Amino acid sequence: MGCDARSVAAAVVAAAGVVGEHRDELVRLDQAIGDADHGENLRRGFGFVVSALAESTPDTPGGVLKLVASVLISKVGGAAGPLFGTAFLRAAGAVGAVEELTPELVSAALGAALGGVVARGKAAVGDKTMVDALAPAASARGADIAALLAAAAAAADVGASSTVPLVARKGRASYLGERAIGHMDPGARSVALLLRSFANSAAG
Ligand code: ADP
Ligand code: MG
Ligand code: MG
Repeated sequence: MGCDARSVAAAVVAAAGVVGEHRDELVRLDQAIGDADHGENLRRGFGFVVSALAESTPDTPGGVLKLVASVLISKVGGAAGPLFGTAFLRAAGAVGAVEELTPELVSAALGAALGGVVARGKAAVGDKTMVDALAPAASARGADIAALLAAAAAAADVGASSTVPLVARKGRASYLGERAIGHMDPGARSVALLLRSFANSAAG
């Protein structure tokens, strides 16, 4: 990804495709410890994002991220819609109005996304939420954007897997107590999927 607005928009469209491909998997994960809607919530939300980008692509990467945020916030209900929306909104703020992303800006965007999710949802690492995938991803480093996102995606995969043995302390899964043990958190899985898709787009 050259990392101008068009390539960021293309990466978002590719990520929407990945969300669609994994819809049923995410539904099954949420069926085990939630209300079975996470995969459909995200599929629908990213479907609206793709439609919005097809109508008009903003002319900066930050503009694209802001559009993703506003669509997710307005169209996706539940816990994850506002949380992902806040993540993209903070990421947009972190990259500002530049024409091209740099590794430093992508790193800042990941850190800001994490900050937004934590500010909004008040979850810490170990609470069995998307934070368990996003926090390690935000600490990833890389010499270029592709390497940085590959490291972030790998860290998010490990983080998502780390949720399996945990009891949940935030969100619906927290009502289950020990019955949540043995299941991966759906939001952590979707963070890992999105980052893997962004990494693949960046690798070209
Ligand atoms: P809902 O639980 O409202 O049906 P979703 O199923 O779309 O919403 O999303 C559930 C996911 O949201 C969880 O798997 C978890 O990762 C994430 N989540 C829920 N509450 C929080 C929170 N307070 N902080 C961070 N993430 C959270
Ligand atoms: Mg749910
Ligand atoms: Mg729900």
